[in-house]
Amino acid sequence: MLILMKSEATKEDILRVCQKIETMGFRAHEIPGAQRTAIGITGNQGKIDPETFATMSGVEQAIPVTKPYKLAGRDARKENSEVSVGGEIIGGRELAIIAGPCSVESWDQLITTARAVKDAGAKFLRGGAFKPRTSPYTFQGMKEEGLVLLREARAETGLKIVTEVKDVLTLSAVSQVADVIQVGARNMSNFSLLEAVGELRTPVLLKRGISATIEELLMAAEYILAKGNLSVILCERGIRTFEPATRNTLDLSAIPVVKKLSHLPIMVDPSHGVGMWEGVTAMSLAAVAAGADGIMVEVHPNPSEALSDGYQSLKPERFKDLLEKVRRVAEVVDRSVGAEVA
Ligand code: PEP
Ligand code: MN
Repeated sequence: MLILMKSEATKEDILRVCQKIETMGFRAHEIPGAQRTAIGITGNQGKIDPETFATMSGVEQAIPVTKPYKLAGRDARKENSEVSVGGEIIGGRELAIIAGPCSVESWDQLITTARAVKDAGAKFLRGGAFKPRTSPYTFQGMKEEGLVLLREARAETGLKIVTEVKDVLTLSAVSQVADVIQVGARNMSNFSLLEAVGELRTPVLLKRGISATIEELLMAAEYILAKGNLSVILCERGIRTFEPATRNTLDLSAIPVVKKLSHLPIMVDPSHGVGMWEGVTAMSLAAVAAGADGIMVEVHPNPSEALSDGYQSLKPERFKDLLEKVRRVAEVVDRSVGAEVA
């Protein structure tokens, strides 16, 4: 159930409703909106009588939620959510541009890439320190050492850091460096990890599982929201289909579907979506045209030497060219891209 408060409801009205929910033995989740606050109720097994709240001061309406997700849905919040990452907004008019190597490999590799993507207009640097690899025999990431390099790259460039958490065990180390914690496709259904990042207040970039439906993605987001972390950004990164020509099938139709069902921002990762650098620019432009709130692109100074995902990584010059094109498409859909630095 959702309690929709009146626009003129006071803080005390909201508090009284939350207290009432808690005394009933349920959990109250305040979801602030531009016009009004909604309060989600979780923890109830059966139905709750809407009359319980109808006469309380400041309450507009109590509505039952028909969808399995309560806090991620549009009913909870009419406006699009904007996630602030230390002042950089994801989900606003300006597109979020996240770029960097698949894995952190060395200081030289990381800082060369960071400077190049920043000059091109990116505000976020990606790079995995803990890598969930399909094979146990391939490069597993620089781990803690990689986190140190990411921290240094932020100090040097001012870029916000997006890095993946592989498990609950290493979450504390990752969260000390990450401005945005990435939960990868393979972990979308790792519910203990989702709950653990939900306990934090660091923004989370939640990638769609390899074979997950859009509803499953929203339910995964719900795990994080239900623990009180409202800073969730979704990411479409391709799903597995019968088509072997691309690494995955980038499901761009997920963007309008998510926009209809949810208030959460949605980004697109074209690199894992197609798995070959030749397809990355086309899919980035298509993603922006389709209404994505940003793109996450793998960039490497020397893709043929990359320790992971070299084949789908762009060279810095190509990334610069991509962003110039993205700028033009962004204008058509009334969005913008941060200024080029150099
Ligand atoms: C990545 O971003 O490098 C990654 C491992 O992505 P995904 O979880 O989408 O496969
Ligand atoms: Mn990768």
